Amino acid sequence: MDGQNSEGGAAQNKNSCTPPGFLFVQPKQKRKEYWQCIKLVAPTMEEKKWKVSEAIFAWCTLCNCKVKWKLGEINFVKSHMQTKHKLLLNMNEEDKKASIANFFPTKEQQNTRPVSKANQELGEALLVKWVAESLRPFHIVEDNGFRDLAAFLCRVNGKFSVPTRNTLCTRTERMALLVEKRMRIAMGSEMKYFAATTDMWSGRTREAFISLTVHYLTKEFTWRNFTLEVSPVRGRHTAINI
Ligand SMILES: [Zn+2]
Repeated sequence: MDGQNSEGGAAQNKNSCTPPGFLFVQPKQKRKEYWQCIKLVAPTMEEKKWKVSEAIFAWCTLCNCKVKWKLGEINFVKSHMQTKHKLLLNMNEEDKKASIANFFPTKEQQNTRPVSKANQELGEALLVKWVAESLRPFHIVEDNGFRDLAAFLCRVNGKFSVPTRNTLCTRTERMALLVEKRMRIAMGSEMKYFAATTDMWSGRTREAFISLTVHYLTKEFTWRNFTLEVSPVRGRHTAINI
C-alpha cells in the first residue's frame, strides 16, 4: 500500500543491521510524533532501566538503522522522520485531527435535551425502515460505532454531508494505512514471541478468503492480536493451495 513511500521497513534499507545495544524508549518526549518508530540505544545489551544520558545514539525500528542523536538534540531524529517517514508524520497529524476522541464532547458539552416526541418517533421509523430494507440486524442499535455516529450527528451544529462511496473507500484506505503503521510499531516494540492463527471462510458471493492473525502478550501481560492479512483464495482448498 505504501509502495511509493520510503517507509517499506528493514527489507528495503541497504544499510539495515541489528542494534548494537539494548533499545529503550526516550522517556520525556516533547514531540511524540518524532519518536513513533525511534528508540535510544544503550551501550550494551543489558536489559535494565537505562538513563537517557547513557544512550549512544538513536535507532529507527522501521528502517533498522542508526540515527544520529545526542542529549537535548532532536534535529537528526526530526530530519530522519521528515525524510524517511513523512507519511507517518502526516498520518499522525491526520490522526490528531480525526481522533475519534475529539469528536466526542465531555458530558457537560453534550446536548442532553431530548428531541420532541414527534421527532423521536420519526427517527425510530427511519431506523426501522433502514433495518428492514437493508437487512441490518436488530442489534445494530447496540453497535458502538453506530451509537458514536448517532451521537456525533446529534451534537454537530450544521448539515453533515454523507460521503460518496468513493470518498468512503479512500478514507478507509487511509485509515488502513494508519492502522498498519501503528501495528508495525506496536509489534516492533512489544512483541518478543507470538502465536499465529488462520481462518478460512466464504462470503455471500461464495468467494473464499483466508486470514492470518498474530497473538502475543506484552511485558505487562496485555493480550494483543493483529490480523496481518486477509486474502482471497482461488481454486480448490487443498493443503498445497492453502
Ligand atoms: Zn526510519
